Amino acid sequence: MLGEAVLDLRRCTRGEILEPADLGYEAAREAYNAMATGRPTTIFRPADLPDIVAAVRWAADSGLAIGVRGGGHSVAGHSSPDGALLIDLSRWRGATVDPAARTVDALAGCRLMDLDAATFAHGLAAPSGTFIDTGIGGLTLSGGISWLLSSEGFACDALIGAQLVAADGDVLEVDEEHEPELLWGLRGGGGNFGVVTRLRYALTEVPAMFGGRLRFHGSALRDAILTTFEVEASAPDELVLALVAWRAEDGSPSISVNVGWRGDPEGGMAAVRALATHPACYESDLKPMNWLQQQTLYQPIPYGLRQYWKGHLIGRLDESLADALISSASEATDESFALVELIHGKAHRIPETHAAFGGRSAVANVTALAIWEGAADDEAEIAWARRFADRVSPLSIRGGGYLNYAELDQSAARVTAAFAPDSWDRLQKLKRRLDPTNRFRFNANIPPQDA
Ligand SMILES: Cc1cc2nc3c(=O)[nH]c(=O)nc-3n(C[C@H](O)[C@H](O)[C@H](O)COP(=O)(O)OP(=O)(O)OC[C@H]3O[C@@H](n4cnc5c(N)ncnc54)[C@H](O)[C@@H]3O)c2cc1C
Repeated sequence: MLGEAVLDLRRCTRGEILEPADLGYEAAREAYNAMATGRPTTIFRPADLPDIVAAVRWAADSGLAIGVRGGGHSVAGHSSPDGALLIDLSRWRGATVDPAARTVDALAGCRLMDLDAATFAHGLAAPSGTFIDTGIGGLTLSGGISWLLSSEGFACDALIGAQLVAADGDVLEVDEEHEPELLWGLRGGGGNFGVVTRLRYALTEVPAMFGGRLRFHGSALRDAILTTFEVEASAPDELVLALVAWRAEDGSPSISVNVGWRGDPEGGMAAVRALATHPACYESDLKPMNWLQQQTLYQPIPYGLRQYWKGHLIGRLDESLADALISSASEATDESFALVELIHGKAHRIPETHAAFGGRSAVANVTALAIWEGAADDEAEIAWARRFADRVSPLSIRGGGYLNYAELDQSAARVTAAFAPDSWDRLQKLKRRLDPTNRFRFNANIPPQDA
């Protein structure tokens, strides 16, 4: 039945269409997380904007829900929609900088590396994320934690414009002047409102960074974690810290504190001296770097592994978190780790009303990242991540996690808890205006408010 309808889509578009029987469908279907097994009825790679409009209208006529894929990194599997149309923007890459206005217009399929390469050529940068192969679309629409978090806020805070194809096929140019409520919603409300085709960011100058990793081991590990929390409590805006806890080869817990300092090496070294000189610190590779070097501090994690992430946005850093990190690291397998991304500075000072993003009051994003190879380990790995999330849940600001790190089986209650109650109400109204039948439901879903 759908086969005939697909002919209509072929007739009115120029892009590539893949159905399950087609050569290339399986390769196109596969996402970053091997646990994301959803099978779209049709995968569509648009050639241009009219293609997207036509595909959205075609899905409405065919009664199909729509999923959107940018970089394909959704660990929750949102860009692997089962039984729906997948609009795959992964080939929509390219970014144009306006150096005088200090802005960049990026096609929605860009990876962070595209954005960084374009802006770096002008000595500029956008706050985005820390893994250069991640897509800017999903990352920005649900927050965006980067090495510029404390000095510039979340990636969504720097979003100053977008182009969006809504559920009825209307093309909306979004900025403060034209669609201020939608701009607010796109700053954290995820892919709920339609297909975002282009994103515009405000840029900032980043002449120098000082970054790297400090590694800790041994009996003073707990104290090193608490020292990290102390350093964070009085950290200037230039400093961003992320703490990673894993199990070392000898089976004991280990941590690294990953550092991004925006500025000269002297200032950076002074900011982390208490950590670099801590008795448990056995290795440091901190060094001066430029923005692109800082952005490649983390090596991409390969495609095709099995992954399950779960965590909380938390309201305080205390000894219970240090204990949870040590216990979970002791129980982790080779590839899995617990991550604490610390939040302070401008990320906190930007008014709540600027963005729909619901994690601004959190002092950290705390998530267990279970990563493994074989299906035989599914149960144990998922249980490990859930145990960590349970251990830190008393610290949670509202019971929700960072939506960009959502678990595969995220409940509706955890989605709601990721937003402030006032924002949730506004988001549901916005959803009713732009997507009243919830056609875009493969996301941290905001159901449309009843009329
Ligand atoms: C290895 C790795 C490292 C990461 N590092 C960071 C990090 O440093 N900081 C951080 O904040 N996050 C990070 N993340 C999380 C990341 O932000 C999310 O996985 C995000 O969804 C990735 O965006 P994407 O476009 O690649 O995702 P996709 O899987 O392509 O999309 C995810 C969802 O986002 C929505 N979406 C995406 N593009 C569009 C669009 N154009 N229009 C409408 N909706 C859209 C859709 O709902 C889609 O289903 C990381 C993830 C991984 C796997």
